[in-house]
Amino acid sequence: MTRYWQPGEQAVLRYRRSGKVSYVFPITVVVDTRDMTALFLAAGTPIKKRVGPTGEPTPRDISYEDRSKLPVILGDGVWKHTNVLILVRPHEAHDVRLFFEPNTDRFLQFYVNLQRPVTRLAIGFETSDHVLDLEIQPDKSWHWKDEDEFADAQRIGRFSVEEATAIRSEGEQVIRDATMNRWPFNAGWEHWRPDPEWPLPSFPEGWDQD
Ligand code: MG
Repeated sequence: MTRYWQPGEQAVLRYRRSGKVSYVFPITVVVDTRDMTALFLAAGTPIKKRVGPTGEPTPRDISYEDRSKLPVILGDGVWKHTNVLILVRPHEAHDVRLFFEPNTDRFLQFYVNLQRPVTRLAIGFETSDHVLDLEIQPDKSWHWKDEDEFADAQRIGRFSVEEATAIRSEGEQVIRDATMNRWPFNAGWEHWRPDPEWPLPSFPEGWDQD
């Protein structure tokens, strides 16, 4: 029996890379049904993220290949700058995010995170990032994000040719959804606002367990 979450409950959205937990985002559940799930990631939320052995961020000025060989641990971070509404449908290899300006709640843009279909955990939700992303503006103009990193990830064998083709075509489907104004781009989520009573979520017991 699938356990659905109630609006306002706190859970986590967790990422794995090569089998290891790589990011953990405490979130508040907005909606969770058989058909779709909406999660809220608030600016100021403490998160876990991949960092170097002494807690330093991974350097961006060396090649992706060299970076991917560096030792990493799971360190502490804070989600900054934006409030994010994350829309997920079961079996889809992406989510659609809406970025809002904290304090004003002004809608800024859509962001499509290509990723493995989300699965459920006792503590929330889990997936793996597919590196390539899409940014979609309120007027539905769009561009790919991190194409260079995606090419590098293929070069070092993180994705096979077939996987990379499937990842890109998933993104192309979302571009069509946006330009033809299909879900979720026609659903008015830009006007959604978080409940001001919701406290910032923290890490539930077992956030680091399988
Ligand atoms: Mg991504």
